[in-house]
Amino acid sequence: MVARHAVAQDDEEETDAPSPVEPLLYDEGSAIIRRSEWSRAPGKQDLLKPAEGFTRLTVHHEGNGVNTHTRWDDVARDLNGILDAHMKKHWGDIAYHFVIDYSGRIWEGRSLGYEGAHVLANNEENLGVMLMGNFEEQQPSARQLASLNRLIAAVRRKYLISLSSIYGHRDLGHSVCPGRNLYAYVTGLRRDETDEEA
Ligand SMILES: [Zn+2]
Repeated sequence: MVARHAVAQDDEEETDAPSPVEPLLYDEGSAIIRRSEWSRAPGKQDLLKPAEGFTRLTVHHEGNGVNTHTRWDDVARDLNGILDAHMKKHWGDIAYHFVIDYSGRIWEGRSLGYEGAHVLANNEENLGVMLMGNFEEQQPSARQLASLNRLIAAVRRKYLISLSSIYGHRDLGHSVCPGRNLYAYVTGLRRDETDEEA
């Protein structure tokens, strides 16, 4: 794996759009669970739009009931349920690029080679990350937030996404997503950039 990704990793100036089949970020040593490890159902490529890179990132919550699943099988079942629902909406694949479960595992969603389907009319250059749970009802776990930070750092090494371009779904659409408890954290990430500049 290291050798396979060595060239892409060294080329920080790469500006070409990612190839739809080229895995990205998985050379960061950050143990992201690949999509093929939790689903055998492929996306529908004819419904997917190749991504032109990412300049912003939007954080979502699952938004169903309280979810504190930590067992692999339980989380994989949840993810497959979400995938099925999104396929029925003809979104071509699960809407998000990454999902973080309650125990802090990071699961790959749709390939970074494609635009997401997570904010109505606002998916262009918009990388989608979903945390499992309902953060109107519960608090995100410390491990989920640590993984969100780790993922954002990895993404920002690959793409030019400023902290001020990290949004909660509610910033871009008519939604309570990602729930008040997670949204408070997301707005804190944006404040961090003000501190960086000061
Ligand atoms: Zn959302």
